[in-house]
Amino acid sequence: MDTYTYRIGNKIYLNLTNRCSNNCDFCIRRNDGYKEFGLWLTKEPSAEDVINALTDIDSAEEVVFCGYGEPIYRLDIIPELCDYIHKHGKKTRINTNGQGDLIWDTDVASKLKGYIDTVSISLNATDARSYQEICHSEYGEKAFYALLDFAKKCKENVSRVILSVVDVIGEDAIAKAREIADSLGVELRVRAYLE
Ligand code: SF4
Repeated sequence: MDTYTYRIGNKIYLNLTNRCSNNCDFCIRRNDGYKEFGLWLTKEPSAEDVINALTDIDSAEEVVFCGYGEPIYRLDIIPELCDYIHKHGKKTRINTNGQGDLIWDTDVASKLKGYIDTVSISLNATDARSYQEICHSEYGEKAFYALLDFAKKCKENVSRVILSVVDVIGEDAIAKAREIADSLGVELRVRAYLE
């Protein structure tokens, strides 16, 4: 059975799509990470499907749009779901590769205003060539510039914006990532690499 929601601690994660414009070397999908959750979908859910699966929302603190895939592909249902989550007094976060403007050919950050409370964008590298070597975006090296631009636009539309990197990139790269985050006026989060 398809899993549209799953819970880790006090957070509920939403699995709305398996589509992604990247094919990152470290993606947990490559080795069926979180296999026990059954995150490969046979059908993308409707907003109603997800709401029906959010049976334990009242005991959660935050609801996170994430993967097995890039959640921005489901911009069609994100606003309705956020309204539902907010009506239950919970915060919303989206974990994204930041390529929404390329995916939708529009200003996606402005469409998140009032719906998403936190945007967490995977930076993964500190220059376009390294990013493409690791993430293999279907948009090529322009994906990196698009994600930086997206972070800048999110600053104007969303109350909290985070760039994230995995800790395996090394101290020098983490320092450079911090410079990038500072220059954009957003937070940097260094997260542990999941084997
Ligand atoms: S952006 Fe996320 S879902 Fe897409 S390939 Fe990379 S790690 Fe996987």
